[in-house]
Amino acid sequence: MVKKLIVSILILTFLCVSTVNAEEENEDKESIYDKRMALFKKTEALTQIPWYYLAAIDNFERNTQDSSEPEKVISIDIPSEIWFGIGNASEYQGVEIIEMFDGKGKDGNGDGKADPEDAEDILFTMGNILLEYGPTEDDIKIALWNYYKRDLTVQTIKNTSKVFRKFKDINLTDRDFPVAINYNYSYNNTWGDRRGFGGLRTHEGTDIFADYGTPVKSTTYGVVEMMGWNLYGGWRIGIRDIYNIYHYYAHMSGYNDDLQIGQVVKPGDVLGSVGSTGYGPPGTSGKFPPHLHYGMYKDNGKNEFSFDPYPYLKKWERMAKN
Ligand SMILES: [Zn+2]
Repeated sequence: MVKKLIVSILILTFLCVSTVNAEEENEDKESIYDKRMALFKKTEALTQIPWYYLAAIDNFERNTQDSSEPEKVISIDIPSEIWFGIGNASEYQGVEIIEMFDGKGKDGNGDGKADPEDAEDILFTMGNILLEYGPTEDDIKIALWNYYKRDLTVQTIKNTSKVFRKFKDINLTDRDFPVAINYNYSYNNTWGDRRGFGGLRTHEGTDIFADYGTPVKSTTYGVVEMMGWNLYGGWRIGIRDIYNIYHYYAHMSGYNDDLQIGQVVKPGDVLGSVGSTGYGPPGTSGKFPPHLHYGMYKDNGKNEFSFDPYPYLKKWERMAKN
C-alpha cells in the first residue's frame, strides 16, 4: 500500500516536472520570435530598412547554418574582415578604430563597442551596409547582390521578405499535404530509385498516385518561382519556401487560374490538379498513370541538392488529418 502510494507520488511528481519543462520550452520558443521581431522593428526605425528584409536575411543565414547548434536570436554572420576592416587583425571593437580600418561594424546598442556577437550591433551594421545603396526595394536588391554575390541567395531573401511582409509574422509553422487528403491517393518511398526515361537518372522525389483532377496544394509558405512546361515534368510548379527549400510539383494536368510567378502562397492554397503530363512536347499526357511528383531541394547558401521528401510527407499527412 505504502509502496504503491510512493510510486504514485513519484509518477505524479515526474509528470508535473515534465509538463513544466515543456511549457518553459514553448515559452522560450515563442519569445525568441518576439525578441527577433522587436529587434527588426528597432533596426528599421534606426536605418529605414524595412523589418521584413532584415528578418529575411537573418532567416536565410540561419537556414544555411548547422541546425544542431543552439539557435541564436540573430544568425547573421558578418565576416570579420568586413566587420573590423582589412588589417584590423586585433579585432578591437572600438568604433573609431574600426572606422579607421574601413570596417563596417557599428554600435547598435549604444555601449560604445561594435560587437559582432551582439544582436543589436549585428542588425544595425547590416542595416547600414544595405543603406549605403539607398532604402528603396531596388536599392536593397542591389545591396544584397553586392554583399552576397549570388543570385539564388538574393532571390531567396527577396521571396522570404515578401512572405514575412504579407503575413506580418516570422513564426510561420503551418504545413499541408500536397494532395487533398479527402481524395484517394497512395505513395511509397521511391526517392533515389532509378528512372529510365531520358537516360539514366535517379528519382529526385516521391510519387503520389491519385486520380486526374485531385487538387494539388502548397505544402508551405513561399513564393511561386517557376511555372510552365518541362520535358520530364510536364506542367510543373516550383515554390521557394522560407527555409531555403525549393518544392517541385510535376506532371500536373493544369494550374489554378489565378496562380502566377512571384505570387505568395500559404499551406493549403490550391495550385492545380493531378495529371500525367510530361515525357514529350508541351501537352503530352497519359504516358504513365496520373500522379503528383513531389521533390524537395535544399540550398545551403553554396549549392542546392535533392533530399528525401518522404518523412516530411508522412509528417504533413498526420498534421492534415488532425
Ligand atoms: Zn516522380
